Amino acid sequence: STVISVRDLKRSYQLGEQEFQALRGVSFDIQQGEFTAIVGPSGSGKSTLMNILGLLDSASSGQYLLDGQDVTGLGETERARVRNQKVGFVFQAFFLLPRLTVLENLEVPLIYAKAPPAQRRKRATELLERVGLADKAQHRPTQLSGGQKQRVAIARALITRPSLLLADEPTGALDTRTGEEIMGLFHELHHEGATVILITHEPDIAAHASRTLRVRDGLLEEV
Ligand code: ADP
Ligand code: ADP
Repeated sequence: STVISVRDLKRSYQLGEQEFQALRGVSFDIQQGEFTAIVGPSGSGKSTLMNILGLLDSASSGQYLLDGQDVTGLGETERARVRNQKVGFVFQAFFLLPRLTVLENLEVPLIYAKAPPAQRRKRATELLERVGLADKAQHRPTQLSGGQKQRVAIARALITRPSLLLADEPTGALDTRTGEEIMGLFHELHHEGATVILITHEPDIAAHASRTLRVRDGLLEEV
């Protein structure tokens, strides 16, 4: 089924008196289970597109359907609700909570989702095993390597079973070998059925995806 359907999406920013069009009319579909890289040089509009796809921002015009639901015109509150249900985020900077254990970090999205504690603990334990860090459950994030931190962040992103995993430069803070390992994990998740969108400016990283969309000056082309 179609997870993302975007039609003639535009986003402009007001810069003083001027209006700047960061996205100038972008259209594409992403099917469930696809692993898509979005590439393009700095300033091309990748962050703008990712912020809209991740329901962190809305388009100026055009249409965005997520799981068949028209999310184009949602207000901030409703957008946040859909975002928490449907999108898992992975960022370059991990954003783990330093005072919580690894296991507690995984449980955070389920606390927001009001899942019962026993269910939270069970699901967090399963996902920690899935990313190969069962033995780190009681550690603090500061005790982990960069690659381990990113595995925790990926597990946390998946914990609510999102429709979409959105990874923004997930290897940007990692050395090459660790970055390759993290891409290996995304590859496995893709084979297990996850829908993954990877935003990167690194061609070697984008090469791990099965499909590449390139943003250039606010327009999108299939590569
Ligand atoms: P990257 O190239 O690493 O994706 P950028 O440095 O282009 O990131 O942008 C980082 C963040 O700052 C984005 O969320 C973007 O929306 C915002 N941003 C980028 N350019 C501007 C600008 N000229 N004015 C205000 N915010 C901006
Ligand atoms: P990328 O992620 O590919 O680096 P961005 O989406 O961050 O690109 O930015 C695309 C263009 O939009 C850039 O020219 C950037 O300066 C501009 N831009 C991004 N965010 C803002 C903003 N909040 N206000 C004004 N201009 C912005």
